[in-house]
Formats: sequence, structure tokens, C-alpha cells
Amino acid sequence: GVAEMAVTDGEALAVLHRVFGYEAFRGEQEAVVEHVIAGGDAVVLMPTGGGKSLCYQIPALVRPGTGVVVSPLIALMQDQVDALRALGVRAGFMNSTQDFDERRTVEAEFLAGELDLLYLAPERLRMESSLDLLSRGKISVFAIDEAHCVSQWGHDFRPDYLTLSLLGERWPEVPRLALTATATDATHREITDRLRMPEARHFVASFDRPNIQYRIVPKADPRKQLLSFLSEEHAGDAGIVYCLSRNSVEKTAEFLSRNGIEAVPYHAGLDAGTRAAHQARFLREEGLVVVATIAFGMGIDKPDVRFVAHLDLPKSVEGYYQETGRAGRDGLPSTAWMAYGLNDVIQQRKLIQSGEGEEAFRRRSHQHLDSMLALCETVRCRRGQLLAYFGQEPAPAGCGNCDTCLVPPETWDGTVAAQKVLSAVVRLQRERGQKFGAVQIVDILLGRRTAKVIQFDHDQLSVFGIGEDLSEAEWRGVVRQLLAQGLLAVEGEYGTLVLTEESGAVLRREREVPLRKEPKKPVGSRTGSGR
Ligand code: ADP
Ligand code: ZN
Repeated sequence: GVAEMAVTDGEALAVLHRVFGYEAFRGEQEAVVEHVIAGGDAVVLMPTGGGKSLCYQIPALVRPGTGVVVSPLIALMQDQVDALRALGVRAGFMNSTQDFDERRTVEAEFLAGELDLLYLAPERLRMESSLDLLSRGKISVFAIDEAHCVSQWGHDFRPDYLTLSLLGERWPEVPRLALTATATDATHREITDRLRMPEARHFVASFDRPNIQYRIVPKADPRKQLLSFLSEEHAGDAGIVYCLSRNSVEKTAEFLSRNGIEAVPYHAGLDAGTRAAHQARFLREEGLVVVATIAFGMGIDKPDVRFVAHLDLPKSVEGYYQETGRAGRDGLPSTAWMAYGLNDVIQQRKLIQSGEGEEAFRRRSHQHLDSMLALCETVRCRRGQLLAYFGQEPAPAGCGNCDTCLVPPETWDGTVAAQKVLSAVVRLQRERGQKFGAVQIVDILLGRRTAKVIQFDHDQLSVFGIGEDLSEAEWRGVVRQLLAQGLLAVEGEYGTLVLTEESGAVLRREREVPLRKEPKKPVGSRTGSGR
């Protein structure tokens, strides 16, 4: 009833003040907390840093019993629990890193009703012993963190999450909360279906992170570009640099260190001790750069990460959003910077094609990549494109804080250039029965007599030298954009170029090909972001 709501209302706010020391709820937090305290199920979509934890921590403190939090982030449980205990919250965790005695202590505390919050790894709930334990205590709320792990299509899929649907069957009276930072409509629906929460109320926070400036620059010499970006705009700042391979993580970290920027590597090939030490330094120190594979960052709560840089293309917009979202959790100006080039497209397409798994999975992966490429190649507001991807309404006039808003890219009619590239691919295939990669095609168009051009008599082709009007970088830009637009495709382990179904229309002059002009001057902090 109304009176009851008013009581819980006041209690939630009191806990926010007294336990967490915060002035007010943020965004959707209050609505979520009220709904769950009143016993309702909820699906909460909030961007990273949006404040998801309080959405279950406060109901757990207000409602009688223990809040059970299911989280895949085993490595962080100890830290989370320590942080809560420091605030006087009675918290514990159960996962595979504990020894028998530690686990027994937590179990006893839970059964005695001495825990406000209990963190569990999802695999615990597969074990009848754990379920039995939970049945013998009193549970106030179930929180399913990183709920997108239930999606079989996502890159974070955890089979154990599928068993979580049983929570509702076994404890129908206990409210459940599913929380995630990554959700398109499809993932969203999958979460509700697979966790069997049809009655849940949905709380969707804005995915906009206005303090993050999004920039994607054409890749030329990525490490050097990174170095100037860091020294010109983020000297002495903490940040994360993402690379695809362990090898390039190592090399980039070395390169930065050699050039006076304190940087440490982080990837799954390093031993656990080194990884933990580097992560601890990152959290503790003010100006450390971590160069990492995507293994780094999930659940890391460092508010003053001033930049996230990508030297390689993420596989999906979700991935990009999640990784860049680690910047600027404190709300202060931060930069999401990425260098992107032709090789990224080729490499990612090859990875998908040569990867294992079913055809449907491959198709999904290509779709994910297509959306990511569209974000890279857009001539419109990047933030607008991101928000639209997550089904949210972008500002019609652009955001004013991304590279395309700050320096609108020019477009040009690339129809003839596209025809030249496609003709070269066709000629090689039809006249010679050959397939080649982008480098050879560009050399042919530029009329370069390289060793490989001579070896294959490619200087005899009618298309040899027909592209001297553009530079090598511009041709690579054309090929990249054709690949991104699906007007050209890559094939096989060498990444040879082949036509697609859509190529024909361009060759027959049935359609135009507008292309983005490669920017000459990079967008930097001095180009008018107003800071
Ligand atoms: P998420 O899990 O959504 O990534 P967190 O729950 O870790 O986000 O919260 C991000 C940061 O914001 C944390 O440092 C948290 O303490 C802080 N925060 C959350 N809610 C509030 C609030 N209402 N007032 C002030 N700070 C908050
Ligand atoms: Zn913009």
C-alpha cells in the first residue's frame, strides 16, 4: 500500500546516506530499489558505471534475510566483499578460490542470518549442496549480475547461467533482479526468456556517456599515433589500451615505457601473480597505463580512467561500448580513442571465417562486425550511432563531443574509384584465374612494378596504373570502405579479395558509392571540444 511504500522509501534513502554515504540516488536507482523492496522482479539495463550495485545492495539491506548475488567475476569477489565490510555491511562470498574452512565459516554465517549479502559463482547453483544450503537460510533478494552471460549469442556466454531459471521456481516468493550493461533488444529478450522473468519490470537507463569523447582515426602507424595522442592530451593520466593479441600487448607496453609513459601489460598469458600485481597497481596509482587484451577490465571499478584506446577493432559495438565505458566513471571529461584501418577489417573477417562453430554463429559474428564497421565509417555523429544501436533516441543535431561532430568528415563520390578496385579484382579472376589481397590490388592500381607485380605479369593487365590519381592511403581507404559496405569481401587464410552479390551493381554503374574522405588533420583536444 501507499503507507508501506512510504516507509520503505524512507528506509532506502536512509541506508543510502548512512551506509554508503551518498547524497541521493542516481537515475533509475531509486525506482529499481523501491520496486524490489516491494517484492517485484526487475531487469536493469544500465551502462557500466551507472551504479548497478546499489540496486541490489540496498534492497538486500532493507529486506529481511540475505541478498544472494550471482556473479561470474570470481576474481573480484574478495575485493567487493572487503569494500562492503569496510562500510559495515556483513558480506561474504563462496567460490572455488576458497578453502574448506573459509567456506564453512561463510555457510555458518549465512545460516545464522548474519549476512546481508552473499556473493556466489554461478557454478555453485548447479550443486545440490549449495541449493540445499540456500534453502536452509533466509533470502531477501536474488541479484543476477552480468545477466547478458545467459545469452548464447554474446561473447560472454556462460552455460551455468542457464540453470539460473530454477531460482524462480524454487524461491517464487523471493524477488529477482537481473542486471547488465550490455543489452540490445535481442539480448534483453533473451535475458527475460531464459531467466524466466516474464513479470519483471524493466528499467532502462540512458546509455549515453556524455563525458566520453568518441574518436576513431585512420590507422597509419598505430603505436606512434597512440603516443602522440597520449602525450598531447593525456600525459600522466590513467588509461587502458586494448590490443587484439598478447604479442602486440607486450610490444605496445614496451614501446610506451621506452617513450616515457608508464605502462604495464595485461593478458591471459601472464601468470596470475603478475596479472594481479598489474591490476592492483592500476587501481592504486594515478597515472598508470595498462595495455591489455579484452581479458582486462570486466568489473574493474576505477573512477578516474581518463582514456580508453583501441589499437585493434573490437568485434562488436557491445564490446566497444563496454570497453570504452570504463573511461570516465567519475563523470569528468574522458576520451575513447581508436585507430582503425584496412587490416582490421581483413583480420576480423578472416577470424570469423576460419573460426570454429556453426554457420549461424558465423553469420551473427559478421553482423556484429558489420555494425562495428558502420560505426567506424559513419559520417554522422558517433554517439548518435551508438545510442541508436542500443535502441535509444539520439540528439538530432549531433552531440558536439565526438570527432564527426567536431570536424564533420567530407564525403566524395567514390563510384569510379570503387569500379576501378572491383575491375582489378574481376580482371585477375576472369583473365588469370587468380585471387590476391589488398596490397597487390593497390600496387596494380598505382602502377607499381614491385617484385610480386613483375612475377605475375600484372603490369600487363589493362587495369595496371589506372589509379594514379589517388595515393596509396586513399586506395586503402577505398578498399576498406568497400569491405565495410559489403561491396567487396575477403576469403581464405590469405585474405584475398573477392566480389560480393552487391559488387555487380557498382560495376554495371547501377549504383553510386559515396565514400568518407580520410581526414587529414586528426581531431584533438585543441580542435574545439571547448575544454
Ligand atoms: P556498475 O556496476 O553499474 O558499473 P557501480 O555500481 O560499480 O556501477 O557504480 C559505479 C560508481 O558509482 C561506484 O564508484 C559507485 O560507488 C558510484 N555510485 C553509484 N551510485 C551512486 C550514487 N547514488 N551516488 C554517488 N555515487 C554512486
Ligand atoms: Zn557527435
